[in-house]
Amino acid sequence: MGKQFGHLAPYGIEVVGRTIRRGMVEAGVFDFDGTISFLRAGWQQVMGEMMVRTLTEIERWESEEQVAAAVEEVIERTAGEPTISQMGELRRLVAERGAPARSAEDYKAEYLDAFGVRVRERMHLVDSGPASVEDYLVPGAVGALRWLQARGIPMYIASSTDQTDVEREAGFLGVATYFKAMYGSVADPNAHSKARVIKMVMERHGLHGPELVGFGDGYVEIQNVADVGGIPIGVATDEARPGGLDAWKRNRLIVAGADVIIPDFREHERLLAWLFAEE
Ligand SMILES: [Mg+2]
Repeated sequence: MGKQFGHLAPYGIEVVGRTIRRGMVEAGVFDFDGTISFLRAGWQQVMGEMMVRTLTEIERWESEEQVAAAVEEVIERTAGEPTISQMGELRRLVAERGAPARSAEDYKAEYLDAFGVRVRERMHLVDSGPASVEDYLVPGAVGALRWLQARGIPMYIASSTDQTDVEREAGFLGVATYFKAMYGSVADPNAHSKARVIKMVMERHGLHGPELVGFGDGYVEIQNVADVGGIPIGVATDEARPGGLDAWKRNRLIVAGADVIIPDFREHERLLAWLFAEE
């Protein structure tokens, strides 16, 4: 199994080694945050601060460093899962420390409030001039969406962010119209799980295996696309330094089953032409 993509290596497109069946793509599924949008970049920091604050309110012998390490472990392990299950982990950490835990819904509301403030600040920076929409778009993402749209490929968003937030933020960034549908978290945590959305898309279009391409910066969507035999493309965006490659994400995406790793979509024309066997 040779590196089919070796010749593309100088362009930052990395093939992870499995044979990829090209020229078959009929639909695409995209994660939203970290894959298309940077509006929620740095969620780990906001969630981490909120979790540490909650746990340090509990009186016990633990140092702040120990609390921070426990929180970091949870955040790294659950990145990409719905917020409500991440807050379930916070409940567990609180209960393990012998304190009465609030409901996961309660914790989630507190976290979203803190995060909402940050997202609104970013939108305000755009509305009032100092920032532009491009600052919060993953480089090349719009070009990739246009390329796929020009070929009539139906595209979907599968996000673990709340549906209403995904819709608002995709609209704000001007990308909503590229998608046939956008699925985010709703009250029933299983209704729009990424695995479920992928299954719905495949059924709706009667797809098999490599007829589906999936793009994401989280292990959940990459694993879900790999599980159905689709083509998972890991987008290892560096949220702190857009344009760079996040080595931690890259390694995690490879373990999850990514066929290809890209740092962002700047080389989308090369990647997509190859994937569609147009070159
Ligand atoms: Mg993501």
